[in-house]
Order: sequence, then C-alpha cells, then structure tokens
Amino acid sequence: MTENDKTPNTGSSEQTSQQRHKQRQQKLQQHVQQGIAKATAEKGLLLIITGNGKGKSTSGFGTVARAVGHGLTAAVVQFIKGSWDCGERNLLEQHQVEFAVMATGFTWDTQDKAGDIAAAEQVWARAEQMLADPAIDLVLLDELTYMVSYHYIALERIVKALQNRPASQHVVITGRSCHRTLIEMADTVSEVQVVKHAFDAGIKAQRGIDW
Ligand code: ATP
Ligand code: MG
Repeated sequence: MTENDKTPNTGSSEQTSQQRHKQRQQKLQQHVQQGIAKATAEKGLLLIITGNGKGKSTSGFGTVARAVGHGLTAAVVQFIKGSWDCGERNLLEQHQVEFAVMATGFTWDTQDKAGDIAAAEQVWARAEQMLADPAIDLVLLDELTYMVSYHYIALERIVKALQNRPASQHVVITGRSCHRTLIEMADTVSEVQVVKHAFDAGIKAQRGIDW
C-alpha cells in the first residue's frame, strides 16, 4: 500500500456512497412499485384498531376526517362514551357527520347493567341502520369491542350486520380486547401498545389531546 492509498479520497468515496444510495433506492422503488401493481382490488374495508395503548379512537376519527376530506359520507357510533364534550364531534358535526352516542359513560360509574344494556341496544339499532345504508361510505364504531366483551350485544348480530353491509362501505372498529371472530373478519388490524402514558405520571386528561 502506498502513502497515496492511505490518504482518504473524499471525492471518490462520496461518489461511491452516492451510487450505493442510488442503487438501494432504485431497488426499493422497484419493490414498492411491484407491490402497488399487485394491489388492484377495491372493496369496503373492515379495519380494527385495538390494544391497550392510546391512539385507537383518534385513529378512527382521523380516518373519518380523511374520508370527509375526500367528500365521502361518514357516520360515527360511540359506545360507552359519556355525555362529556368531544372535540371530534364538535368538528365533524359541522361537516354533516352524524353521531349516535350511547352516552351512558363507564360501567363502573353507571353501576346499572340493565340500563347500560338498554342504551347499548338503542344505539346498536341505529348502527344497524347505518350498516345497511349504501349512502354512508364509512362507519366508525368507536369502543364497539366492549359491547361484545360485556355481552351487551350478541356477537352474531354484529357479524351479520358487518357481513350484510353494502360492498363498498368501510367500517372502523375501535376498543381493547377485540373478539377474535371480528379480528378474523377484518381486512386490516392494528394493535396499539403502551410504551408510556402521561396519566401514569399523575397528569390528568388534557382537552384536545385526550378528549
Ligand atoms: P384516544 O381516544 O386518545 O385515541 P384510545 O381510544 O386509544 O385513546 P381508550 O381506551 O378509548 O383509548 O381511552 C380513552 C381515554 O383514556 C383517553 O383519554 C386516553 O388518553 C386514555 N388512555 C388511553 N390509553 C391509556 C393508557 N394506557 N393509560 C391511561 N390512559 C389511557
Ligand atoms: Mg377509544
């Protein structure tokens, strides 16, 4: 090896690194394009956002905002939800998004099983109508998973309404511990994991972030 060989030749090594980057990106582009070319089907999707981490309902509402932004019609059914202020509702109702709200709040607050079941039945009846309405492009069933785990609404009824919905209608279901039957039916399922949450550090729910 000569002295010259040891001297770093930044010009040419920079060039090689650029070339390598270009080659890698070209390969990646090819891979992405092949994937896109294969994905040709179009259908109404069933999406589930589950898990214990924060971000399930915000993801559901984000999808509603995305759809409405493209001129699609959307409707929201909120199970469990209390009658407290909801930022998304304040905004989306101004964009003709219908909200059907169970408005009973948490079971540990109501402590009234019969009342909760009656409220669940009532709001589910509206959800069934939405799931049969071809004029609604997207239905968000926020916190629906608890209706199954608490046995407030029979799983079979939910499965039937989802199966019989208009072919192009999208549905988003949110909530923890989603029943495996729904997971199996879904096209896209994401599980949000807790890494940390401000509440555990004694910080109360913040307006605009948590509600
Ligand atoms: P978000 O509505 O913020 O997307 P989420 O739908 O994922 O939350 P839920 O279980 O529906 O979660 O709970 C709603 C409320 O509880 C929100 O105020 C949220 O910040 C809070 N929350 C969510 N996950 C946790 C957690 N792991 N620990 C403490 N609080 C949580
Ligand atoms: Mg939620």
